[in-house]
Amino acid sequence: MHKTLSTMPPIANSKKYDYLVIGGGSGGIASARRAGSYGFKVGLIESSGRLGGTCVNVGCVPKKIMFNTALISETLHDAKFYGFDLKTIPTFNWGMLKKKRDDYIRRLNEIYANNLVKDKVEYIHGKASFVNDKVLRVENNGEFEEIEASRILIATGGHPNIPTKIPGAEFGITSDDFFSLEEQPKKVLVVGTGYIGVELAGIFNSLGTDTTLLTRSGEVLRTFDPIIKKTIFEEMKKEGVHILTYSSVKSLSRDTQKGSVKVQFTSKETGDTEDEFDLLLWAVGRTPNIHDLNLEKVGVKLNDKGYIISDEYQNSTVDNIFAVGDACGVAQLTPVAIAAGRHLSDRLFGPSNFNKSKLDYNNIPTVVFHGTCGTVGLTEQMAKEKYGDKVKIYTSKFVNMYYAMTDNKPATAYKLIVVGEEEKVVGIHIIGRDSAEILQGFSVAVKMGATKKDFDSTVAIHPTAGEELVTMR
Ligand code: FAD
Ligand code: NDP
Repeated sequence: MHKTLSTMPPIANSKKYDYLVIGGGSGGIASARRAGSYGFKVGLIESSGRLGGTCVNVGCVPKKIMFNTALISETLHDAKFYGFDLKTIPTFNWGMLKKKRDDYIRRLNEIYANNLVKDKVEYIHGKASFVNDKVLRVENNGEFEEIEASRILIATGGHPNIPTKIPGAEFGITSDDFFSLEEQPKKVLVVGTGYIGVELAGIFNSLGTDTTLLTRSGEVLRTFDPIIKKTIFEEMKKEGVHILTYSSVKSLSRDTQKGSVKVQFTSKETGDTEDEFDLLLWAVGRTPNIHDLNLEKVGVKLNDKGYIISDEYQNSTVDNIFAVGDACGVAQLTPVAIAAGRHLSDRLFGPSNFNKSKLDYNNIPTVVFHGTCGTVGLTEQMAKEKYGDKVKIYTSKFVNMYYAMTDNKPATAYKLIVVGEEEKVVGIHIIGRDSAEILQGFSVAVKMGATKKDFDSTVAIHPTAGEELVTMR
């Protein structure tokens, strides 16, 4: 921890770094550590007081623990079909799990801090903003200092949106607050059906919360390939999630005595209606954390969606100011932020053979932890727009053998998109048990330019679901 915060007035340019990183999340830490490992003087500024950013504190990590919990709940329900005589399904202690999850995350925060020390990165606690293109002002508890650097990285991530124009919107919670819930709510309304809406609605539902999911369109995961979005829509309904289509929230009010929210909304299924929920969760996208950075002062430009413009080398529109991760708005995923941050530091500080180092943003695999659904490469529509009638589609729909014993039979659905005579695989879209683990390996094949023939000449691993991808006809 930086111990030398000055009192006002600031000591201008009291310290000079080779590289200052704003944001101690996935991208910032990765880039700072890589630069530090090359022996440069690196400082990392973090305002929240805990390292790891969204992913570690209010994203991937606690979410995956909750997803695992949901899977255990589903397995307990399936157990009787496998001959286990569970008289009752054991009750779930949300509060106990939350405490363990928080402890685990605190340990990760410490590990991240130790890792900075290992790579000789100085941790500076405070909120950064630009004074000019070489000087940052860091504010902490009313005190501030100014720090100079030859190069500056913006890796400030984002925060969840709240649709403030809706009266009472502030009575809803966001994914950040989800991870602070001490008790399991009995009845929830989740608004938004992107990654976060689907994942958190799925977790609530699997753990036994009465869950309604509200989409403004007729679909969930609207931007995904039809095989995924259609299958997940049907499966979530079968699982008991109430999906309301073409719907919008009109207003919210809080019942302070009961602690519940009353929601006025309209949907194709219900028309104009009012219902009461323990909580409403907004999952309607995120906004980059850039508004207090004073970017206009230094000339760092934003695109029309309000994200920082950065080129393929993570250069912003100002020399020696760079940007990675969610603040740039492209593929907002932890491994993307990490890889972009490391490539950048390799290029700026590494040996000369790294001077063209950059992340290839093509064929980035991604999964939604419900279903599970995963995707790499082009959707069918994107492939047809790019390659026209050279595109060929292989699909397969089946029931995973795990469900041969159970009453519930969720669909597993796979799609391969291939192009040209050689049938190069340009897209894989899969939904079904274990898809996240399956896709990681197959995305290597896509990245290497594999053809359908390469898939077919690979001997299947039997009995698995993944073998379907190498036996499609
Ligand atoms: P962040 O990790 O958000 O880090 C930014 C840091 O900058 C924060 O610590 C913030 O406090 C700090 N900061 C901001 N402004 C300032 C300032 N002015 N001064 C100093 N510090 C500042 N991705 C996946 O790959 N897999 C998943 O399963 C997954 N699940 C997710 C689940 C949820 C609920 C959410 C919200 C996101 C999830 N993501 C997932 C996305 C992933 O978390 C982000 O893509 C990733 O964290 C982005 O990293 P980043 O470095 O750009 O920003
Ligand atoms: P997404 O962009 O995935 O989804 C936003 C959702 O909000 C969409 O369903 C969108 O509807 C809806 N929406 C947007 N504005 C409104 C509005 N005004 N009224 C009603 N609905 C609205 O964002 P998320 O917040 O879910 O996730 C942010 C990012 O975080 C993701 O894009 C992903 O990159 C990352 N993430 C990754 C995860 C993973 O890797 N497993 C998990 C969680 C997050 P419509 O579809 O109609 O546009």
